[in-house]
Amino acid sequence: MKKTEKERTERAADILTLLKKRYPEPETMLDHASPWELLVATVLAAQCTDARVNTITPELFRRWPDPASLAAAAQEELEEVIRPTGFYHNKAKNLLGAARRVTEVFGGQVPQTIEELITIPGVARKTANVVLWGGFGLNQGLAVDTHVKRLSFRLGLTEHTEPVKIEKDLMQIFPRAEWGDVNHRLVWFGRDVCDARKPACDRCELAALCPRCGVKDTPEKKTSRRTGVSQKKETS
Ligand code: SF4
Repeated sequence: MKKTEKERTERAADILTLLKKRYPEPETMLDHASPWELLVATVLAAQCTDARVNTITPELFRRWPDPASLAAAAQEELEEVIRPTGFYHNKAKNLLGAARRVTEVFGGQVPQTIEELITIPGVARKTANVVLWGGFGLNQGLAVDTHVKRLSFRLGLTEHTEPVKIEKDLMQIFPRAEWGDVNHRLVWFGRDVCDARKPACDRCELAALCPRCGVKDTPEKKTSRRTGVSQKKETS
């Protein structure tokens, strides 16, 4: 193991110890009762808060309780229901495509591999990882969203800015059994302490481990001003 990789692995372990103290039982903030519901909620959460998604999904799942019923939905009706989450036209297209694929190709069941999941419209690696961990308890990768991306860079766990490369770096320095919860803990910490614009370095328990304590700017700012949700690209 190279010196820098060894140092990162040791720092990652120390960071994880502190994050476990703050968040002993982390979990997603998206309400869901099945892997399918988590998949739908995660697609809706792009460029939207989890809290807002949670106000939408009860009505969505009341009208269309499973992939087969959603696959038969009228796009205009679905758009009306999910409108408050923003980018509702593309999200509706993705959800209808996802419902059809899960129904027609996977027998109505959400598949349990990344390779299969990323063939579903609107699902790329981030959503696939979220669904695998939150829906099935499987760690096949580590979901890199906007918070994980920002914190990984600030904490010196990666020098990359591309989610796929960040994911690879994080998978090397965190134990596999921890990947799903590492995502949740970094997301929570990003919301509570290491804010994108105003990181609270003065009250941060990771400050002694953080090479960018006192940071004013990160690559995150340069890439966060997205204006739309495309077929496969994922954000927040
Ligand atoms: S010290 Fe500042 S930049 Fe580093 S993790 Fe804490 S809040 Fe974020």
